[in-house]
Amino acid sequence: MQKRVCMADFPDTSYPGPLRWGRMILRSTCSSCGQPLPLTILSETIPCPYCQATETIDRQLWLQLAGMLDALTDRHEHAEGTLGEGARQIVYQLDPAPPACEKCGASLADEAVDAGYARDLRCPGCGDPAGVAPAPDWILDRIAPARTVVSADPPPGSSSGEGAPASTASLQLVAMACPRCGGGLEITETSGRLFQCNFCSVDVYLPDEIWRRLHPLKKMLPLYIGFKGKSAWRQEQEADAAMRDAERARQEKEKAAATAIRDAERKELAAKSVRSKSLAWRVVLVYLILLLGSIAITWLTAAAGGPGTGLMVLGGIIVVLATLVTCAFVTRPIALATGYPGEWQLFATWFWVPFALAMPVVGSIMALVRGILLARGRFGSSTITSGSSSASYDAIVLQQGEGRPAALFFVALATLWPLLLMGIISPEDAARTLSWLSPG
Ligand SMILES: [Zn+2]
Ligand SMILES: [Zn+2]
Ligand SMILES: [Zn+2]
Repeated sequence: MQKRVCMADFPDTSYPGPLRWGRMILRSTCSSCGQPLPLTILSETIPCPYCQATETIDRQLWLQLAGMLDALTDRHEHAEGTLGEGARQIVYQLDPAPPACEKCGASLADEAVDAGYARDLRCPGCGDPAGVAPAPDWILDRIAPARTVVSADPPPGSSSGEGAPASTASLQLVAMACPRCGGGLEITETSGRLFQCNFCSVDVYLPDEIWRRLHPLKKMLPLYIGFKGKSAWRQEQEADAAMRDAERARQEKEKAAATAIRDAERKELAAKSVRSKSLAWRVVLVYLILLLGSIAITWLTAAAGGPGTGLMVLGGIIVVLATLVTCAFVTRPIALATGYPGEWQLFATWFWVPFALAMPVVGSIMALVRGILLARGRFGSSTITSGSSSASYDAIVLQQGEGRPAALFFVALATLWPLLLMGIISPEDAARTLSWLSPG
């Protein structure tokens, strides 16, 4: 039922005075006589200007209207429509506007500001009366910014009874003849509709044209409410915004905490990686010394028939075990850097070791190729299927040379291991090669 109009239609949005003023033009219908009932005062009871019946306007309706006006004045918006419950419908028109004299248009805002108590107000321009009163408590309870109510029509029984020009000056007197005895009847606007003849005591029902003259249909005089401070609407908006800000701050804090944890984890991993790499280098070095030492012993004793079968078998077992241990140590930095599980590590290093150990030529070439790959540290994407499950791994590059200890290990395995094997298996060939190599 509510229609909003763009404020471009209301050029004057800056209203004077410290209060935020809103204007209400309200109309309902008298439930007794069916005539229009202008709501020109903020009250739960409104006398019908036509039939004098006392009409009630529910607090709830007033609160709804005042609440809308509070928001509209803060938003500089206009609204019009109908609201109500059952038979009691109110046609409203709400605008942000300061109180003004309905006769000459002069602003009443300055006169109306002080509304600590109800009093009559005079237009500074033409002296036309108006009423000003503080907003009733039941309005304040629900709409805290409401301060002052100004009615262009002074409320009946408002503070200053004497000197109010409206009541006596405009008192109309109408004369008519008694329809029964012809006696002259003098009727005023305070007379009831059913009037008793002073002469023949008959009850005279006053005809419409006379009644209407005495009780002209009232103009839809506006009612004003002055609000102080932020409207409930704006307070809600600001509370929402504050809540959103708090939520955003909380999320940012959470994110920062998560980042800090991730950073710490990354740092720890990096430290771990550095430690495992340096350990891998040391293990490879020991492995190299072991291999070279073993080669030296077997080759130098080759001419004398070798160091003895038992010792050579023992030495061979030690070297094979050392190979496996070293492989474990050089694989570790790669595992840390990639984060990939064992099945991927298996193909990165372990898989190639048995070939290198058991197939001195083909296996050695495979180990050499593996060593070059590990030195470059680039691995393509792969999919490993084992049984019914299959896992895919993205291509990865080892940034910090985590594959280099493993590379050196495979190069050693490809080159030194066959030499050792030759010294063990055929010491004669070894001795012959040695004597051929030595210049003497
Ligand atoms: Zn009425
Ligand atoms: Zn005036
Ligand atoms: Zn009479």
